[in-house]
Amino acid sequence: MTKPRTEPACPICGAPRSPRFRPFCSARCADADLQRWLSDAYVIPVAEDEEQAAANEADDLAGQSERGRL
Ligand SMILES: [Zn+2]
Repeated sequence: MTKPRTEPACPICGAPRSPRFRPFCSARCADADLQRWLSDAYVIPVAEDEEQAAANEADDLAGQSERGRL
């Protein structure tokens, strides 16, 4: 009898991983990890975009008032 080698567990739920969905145990865990990765990756750029948009808006207002004065 061959002993099964110790497989690394699914990083999401700790269940034995499936070769089909490795390194996860199922499509659900693979998707959960992807969602977590995407939300982590998107949090920072969105905040930067908002800051950038606010800065652009301030520039527009400054430009408009300057044009109004001229
Ligand atoms: Zn899992």
